[in-house]
Amino acid sequence: MRVAVIGAGIGGLTVAAGLSADGHEVVVYERRDEPGAVGAGLTLFGNAFGALAAIGLGDTVRQASSDAIARMRAGQRTPSGDWLVSMPSSAVSTLRSLHRAELHRVLVAALPTGSLRLGQRAEISGDGRPVVTVADREQGFDLVVAADGLRSEARAHLGLDRGVRYAGYTAWRGITASGVDVQGEAGETWGRGRIFGIVPLPDDRVYWFATESSPAGRRADDEQAAVRERFGHWHAPIRACIDATPADAVLRHDIFDLARLPVAFTKGRTVLLGDAAHGMTPNLGQGAGQAIEDAATLTLLLRRGDPDAALSRYDDLRTKRTRAIWRRSRQMGKVAQASLPLAAGVRDALLRATPPAIMGRATRRLQRWTAP
Ligand SMILES: Cc1cc2nc3c(=O)[nH]c(=O)nc-3n(C[C@H](O)[C@H](O)[C@H](O)COP(=O)(O)OP(=O)(O)OC[C@H]3O[C@@H](n4cnc5c(N)ncnc54)[C@H](O)[C@@H]3O)c2cc1C
Repeated sequence: MRVAVIGAGIGGLTVAAGLSADGHEVVVYERRDEPGAVGAGLTLFGNAFGALAAIGLGDTVRQASSDAIARMRAGQRTPSGDWLVSMPSSAVSTLRSLHRAELHRVLVAALPTGSLRLGQRAEISGDGRPVVTVADREQGFDLVVAADGLRSEARAHLGLDRGVRYAGYTAWRGITASGVDVQGEAGETWGRGRIFGIVPLPDDRVYWFATESSPAGRRADDEQAAVRERFGHWHAPIRACIDATPADAVLRHDIFDLARLPVAFTKGRTVLLGDAAHGMTPNLGQGAGQAIEDAATLTLLLRRGDPDAALSRYDDLRTKRTRAIWRRSRQMGKVAQASLPLAAGVRDALLRATPPAIMGRATRRLQRWTAP
């Protein structure tokens, strides 16, 4: 089949690599001049690796990632460093971390030469016909995959857009320029309306993220100083992570998710995939994982030879699975970002009282992806 993929994010690149390996003729349109990955890290759970393995990309991505976090004590701490809950190792045994740029590099390398068209903005027909317009030229395909992100124009053209929603908090991210000793401990530290996360990367550098409940649109002249002011007095090695990050490499984004999910992920021969279909908050670390599951599901279903049946099954499987995760991620965000002293106190007490086995079970359930 001739397939157009709109967007060279994690979702678009994964589906393009999977379909190309199966012999489909794939063209990926990316509006940016670089197949840009922001300078941050990423964690992927076992479900993402299961899906990658199903389409022949498991080893490639595994080699670019590290299981360091799975070998550490991981869970939630208080700003003074007391553990609220430690994850049982069985729940995080498949968790791996990597540089986003590295993931993009290996996925692009898996594409046939010439299939990635950078600097080309693509528009869909809107009525489900597999037609894209690039630089005022219409081109026909057998299938169009719209992997154009949270603010997907394709979703709007298909009449499936139900809006985006500000989650109520902003996030900073950074990667240290050199190794930081995290003393065998990783995960998140929950304060009042603030979270700091520590993720060791394959090269001993540390990917960290920090969030704060606040109105959208606020910016500081010096974002690194803003993070230091809010989190620098929290337990070690938080200050060391902030200080080891080049000031101009601290990223800040307000967090949005889809206000409501589209009623369908397909229309005719056009398919929504990744954040375009189910943009969720990052609280469960599943956004990219779900984009990868979408990509593997579509690739495997298309192997059966009947594209229309494949799209119908994709719609059924993926709307169900992602709706539950999108909803849980939002709920988790509300709990984790609790700002009022009473709410944060109740949250911490509940976390302390929750047996790690129960937390572990929930995390393992999240990682259950079955190939169609
Ligand atoms: C702070 C934060 C931390 C996160 N941490 C994790 C994590 O640890 N683990 C995890 O699994 N997920 C995580 N996520 C979520 C994850 O980053 C996203 O779910 C994932 O990157 C979505 O990929 P995508 O390919 O669907 O969309 P995107 O990455 O948004 O890619 C869409 C692409 O489409 C292009 N595009 C848009 N319109 C057009 C057009 N008309 N023509 C051509 N190109 C177009 C864009 O330029 C872009 O390159 C996190 C998110 C945030 C915000």
